Amino acid sequence: MHPSSSSAHLERTIQSEIRFSGVGLHSGAMVAMRLVPAAAGSGIVFRRTDLDNFEIPATGRNVAKVSYATSLMRQSVLIQTTEHLLSALIGCGVDNVIVEIDNLEVPILDGSALPYVRAFDRVGLRTQRRRREYLRVLKPVEVCDGSKFIGVYPGTGYTIDYTIDFPSPIGCESFHGDLDLGDYAQLIAPARTFGFKEDEPMLRNMGLIRGASEACAIILTRTGILNGPLRFADEFVRHKVLDLIGDLALAGRRIQGRVVAERAGHAMHTALVQRLMRDRSAWELAPGYDEVAETAAPVRSVAPSLVLTPAHA
Ligand SMILES: [Zn+2]
Repeated sequence: MHPSSSSAHLERTIQSEIRFSGVGLHSGAMVAMRLVPAAAGSGIVFRRTDLDNFEIPATGRNVAKVSYATSLMRQSVLIQTTEHLLSALIGCGVDNVIVEIDNLEVPILDGSALPYVRAFDRVGLRTQRRRREYLRVLKPVEVCDGSKFIGVYPGTGYTIDYTIDFPSPIGCESFHGDLDLGDYAQLIAPARTFGFKEDEPMLRNMGLIRGASEACAIILTRTGILNGPLRFADEFVRHKVLDLIGDLALAGRRIQGRVVAERAGHAMHTALVQRLMRDRSAWELAPGYDEVAETAAPVRSVAPSLVLTPAHA
């Protein structure tokens, strides 16, 4: 077998189906969700079982309004709050899966990606006979909005530098990590979403967080944490990294490059995906870096004129 076929760079799916149920963070609706193994090359596809199995591929072209969560929409059919599940899939190297869901929002579970990671551990992952392609960043792409910033740069691995600056008691936190080192499950997945008690009336008036509770989020006041203890001293910035990985999953492939984010959020994350998709000179689809090094020659050439096939459409 060719050395480049090392399983680290082959696509993967789950060994068997996984079921989740729970409440949607924003809709408050009870939802049943089933993850089903999918064929190589099919990507991550949501399927609304309550709407004749209507399918919505998890790609940037289907990003809907983004405020407090990332939602996908196709032909006015919605899937809300996709980021934690997508983060777990990318973080754990699951390329292909069908996500069957009987309502409009992914369940919030404990507010982190840990329940997904544990479920993947339980059923196991299956390596498939197709080489994984990465979205290799070739030149900087940046999005700026006042003091908010996000940019992606060429680099080996998938490194993330994230800095947040929230009101007390969170303050400034920074996190640096490289997903290719395989630390997602330990360092990122357990970090929970969070919100300030003081913002609750405003958010509820906006029709948001109807499913929020102390079981699915860290709840803060300006003076402290209502439902401690934290899972990490810097759990807040780690959760932003979790969100970022989930939102960038909408690029359709795992990224090869360096991401820098300052005070960003879902809107900035998905704006970066869309800007990246539009600038076809900023990236190429490529095999893993170490895979190329192993074989001492490019495994395949990527034509500069290669057009993005919405990989998973
Ligand atoms: Zn989140």
